[in-house]
Amino acid sequence: MVVDALAFSYAGRVLEGSRKAGEFARLCQGLSAPQDADISWRVAGRQDAGTGRLWLDIQAQGTVTLTCQRCLGPFVMSLQVSNTIGLVKDQAQLDALDALEVTGEGSDIEYLVADRQLDILALVEDELILGLPYAPRHDVCPGAAADPEHQDVAKPSPFAVLEQLRK
Ligand SMILES: [Zn+2]
Repeated sequence: MVVDALAFSYAGRVLEGSRKAGEFARLCQGLSAPQDADISWRVAGRQDAGTGRLWLDIQAQGTVTLTCQRCLGPFVMSLQVSNTIGLVKDQAQLDALDALEVTGEGSDIEYLVADRQLDILALVEDELILGLPYAPRHDVCPGAAADPEHQDVAKPSPFAVLEQLRK
């Protein structure tokens, strides 16, 4: 599904659909179980009336089956991503924005050089990959209650630690 990124945003077009998680080949690299749940996605282009800036809003949600890093059992996780990417016309404009960011004047908005042949699904897939947890774990592993040896509830999960760092 290929679009001209600038024209797409300028016209405020929207593309949406649904496909099996397993059809996102890069997403499924390193994931073991068959990924047959549906992932619904939506990409919308828009232009700021005032500044004329062009944006892509990317959303996707669905479930993937991961391997729990504690019990090594399958772990079905709901994945929900939402991101907005700013479009720039060329690499020079992107470099200028990066330079602003280095000096602390820029924001943490993500920019992309507008591609005349932008693969919408690849964009969605990028966001899904970024949404995957680094070390997925059940909150409570199946069977853990019956086997206290394997419970390590006292240990904070890496996600909780990350949440703390973000604050
Ligand atoms: Zn587990």
